[in-house]
Amino acid sequence: MVLRFFSFFFYYFGIADMSEQLSIYALAIRTLDGAAPKTVALDYLIDNKVPVAKSYTSTRNDDDFRVVLARIENAAEVIEKGAYTPARPTDWQCSLKWCGFFRSCRFAKQPKTMNLGGPQ
Ligand code: SF4
Repeated sequence: MVLRFFSFFFYYFGIADMSEQLSIYALAIRTLDGAAPKTVALDYLIDNKVPVAKSYTSTRNDDDFRVVLARIENAAEVIEKGAYTPARPTDWQCSLKWCGFFRSCRFAKQPKTMNLGGPQ
């Protein structure tokens, strides 16, 4: 089996090797089907004058699964303890536009407002 994942977004050399998403999908296939996929891949459409299709392939083995399981276990512990590390105020996702918790989050740096004159 070959696992392919398609994306319009970020692409760079090595991304398929580093992708936790592909590791988790491959682990799921191994768990459900009894064997990991032979390869995993990210496919991209690059919006050039003439659109280009690029494919980055990789493989996953038991060492990769050990690493991703350790990360999942760590994330579960963090969630159970409620020990969240807030995003930096400069991170793009830490904004009213992108984060659904922004208004209620105690770590969110709310936009400053200023009076430009007129009635108060
Ligand atoms: S508003 Fe809070 S929950 Fe949302 S990204 Fe920022 S720190 Fe994280």
